[in-house]
Amino acid sequence: MPRILQLPPHVVTKIAAGEVIERPASVVKELVENSLDAGATRIEIDLEEGGADLIRIVDDGHGIEPDDLPLAFCTHATSKLRDADDLFRVGTLGFRGEALASIGGVAHVTLQSRPAGRDAGAEITNDGGKLSFVRPWNGAPGTRIEVRRLFANVPVRRKFLRSTGTELNHVVEAVTRLALANANVDFILRHNGKTTAEVPRGADLRERLALFFGREVADTLYAVEAEQGPARLRGYVADPACERGNARQQYLFVNGRWIRDRSLSHAVQEAYRGLIMTGRYPVWFLFLDLPPDHVDVNVHPTKAEVRFRDNQAVFHLVLSAVRDRLRGLSLVPRLTAPVPARRADDEPWLRPSPSSPAALFDSVSSTPATSNTHLTPTYAANPSPPKAVQMHDAYLLVETPDGVLVIDQHALHERILFEQLRRRMQAGDVERQRLLVPEPMDLTSEQAAQVLEHKEALGELGLEVEDLGGGTVLVSSYPAVLTRATPAVIFQSVADRLAARNRPPSRDALLNDLMASMACRAAIKAGDRLSAEEIAALLAQRELADNTHHCPHGRPTSLLFSREELDRQFRRT
Ligand code: ADP
Ligand code: MG
Repeated sequence: MPRILQLPPHVVTKIAAGEVIERPASVVKELVENSLDAGATRIEIDLEEGGADLIRIVDDGHGIEPDDLPLAFCTHATSKLRDADDLFRVGTLGFRGEALASIGGVAHVTLQSRPAGRDAGAEITNDGGKLSFVRPWNGAPGTRIEVRRLFANVPVRRKFLRSTGTELNHVVEAVTRLALANANVDFILRHNGKTTAEVPRGADLRERLALFFGREVADTLYAVEAEQGPARLRGYVADPACERGNARQQYLFVNGRWIRDRSLSHAVQEAYRGLIMTGRYPVWFLFLDLPPDHVDVNVHPTKAEVRFRDNQAVFHLVLSAVRDRLRGLSLVPRLTAPVPARRADDEPWLRPSPSSPAALFDSVSSTPATSNTHLTPTYAANPSPPKAVQMHDAYLLVETPDGVLVIDQHALHERILFEQLRRRMQAGDVERQRLLVPEPMDLTSEQAAQVLEHKEALGELGLEVEDLGGGTVLVSSYPAVLTRATPAVIFQSVADRLAARNRPPSRDALLNDLMASMACRAAIKAGDRLSAEEIAALLAQRELADNTHHCPHGRPTSLLFSREELDRQFRRT
């Protein structure tokens, strides 16, 4: 077992310093990380009053030599780092030798430890920085640490603690992160004597996710696995239908450590673009593993952020892995509704329908197709065209081998046009429709300035413009696939988006946004009566295009009422 040594001053100065103990959850995080670094396979956490009165952690790790006990409480004393170079290849969760010293300074701590293979152990106490002598202790191999009356000697800090429930929630969050990253360890969390969480060692990641986030989440997860150079990504991303109003169910781990990273969160959000509406957040759990010298973990006081040696490569790995995974899926949301309980005296065929079919269609299940083996039916394999009926001049009802598909004609056409434009733009050959007489457009000065600034990008989209001065712009061509709308309507939507306040910052995202606006303007609208040929053409295009399950703004284009669900609702099964 490595011995504890005080770091020399030239190493200490290179360590990102800062206060790490903010609340009970920070104590739990630091102590459990120590247990994990000691190779523990079982970690028990007991709290009283949200941890403010007591935090006790018992592990079965390799323990601490009796002689090293006083050193464990010294600042910058660690067994995990020897020289400054080690800072650039950290393989443990801790390395600064600060946590025990900080905790000892603000609480009453008892540290008991028996190294594996020794007959007896020893204990020491630290009362607000005052160390006791080392005494013999006869406990099981491993380490046991009790932190009582946190911040009792720093009343200002104690006052900042929130309610027991809030502090407990923070601890649960900390334990969740640690337990997700360490699937080979038993975790037990008890509060005031009652078990709050119990995660057995055998439970794999998906089972752990079910334990912490519920079956509904666990059942909508798709596994992701990808590699690029020395970097490896694995984990799960949830079906877009499982979206949330905040980013709390997004977890990123780098080399087994939970971290926050705006750039990588953005990469995942980007991968979901078009599948989720603006302002909504996907659920995901991703683990990135890199050689230790490819990531600097010594940049943040609580190590909640890291720096990557090659930021771009990592961004690209995450974006492409998640995007590719989502692309291959059938993401048509399935409609379900609760089936009312059957009464004993009920004859199912006599009873009136409990709710109108329209009401059933209102409820969209948040648990859509759970496996990618369920693919949208391919009509190409089926020589006879699908049977469709237009309803309310807005929806198409289509019979498929899987059930009844309800299609939003506008959303679907919008997605088809968007995909056609996008593919052509990527190939650099957007077909232009030249105007016999170029059309002058009067814009606000802001719009005109934005349009002229993006003249080149608009050219790539098939929109050729000339400055006539005074806020007037001359449009001489527009994309040929968008002929359902007039050039003026298409162009105006682009000018509006360019001058909008919430315009996306990056060039790619902006082009996507402009294509989505144009596709929206040129698409069939709700209220347009379609001919049989138009319906057939739309359905045929649906089969040919990618990602037709959602419109470019993230709304679903189709909903499936599966055959099984119909049978279930009508009590045929
Ligand atoms: P760090 O983890 O950064 O080294 P800490 O202050 O958290 O610093 O811990 C100081 C030292 O005490 C560690 O380097 C380790 O040697 C020892 N230690 C702390 N907790 C444990 C534990 N649960 N099991 C074994 N060793 C421990
Ligand atoms: Mg530590």
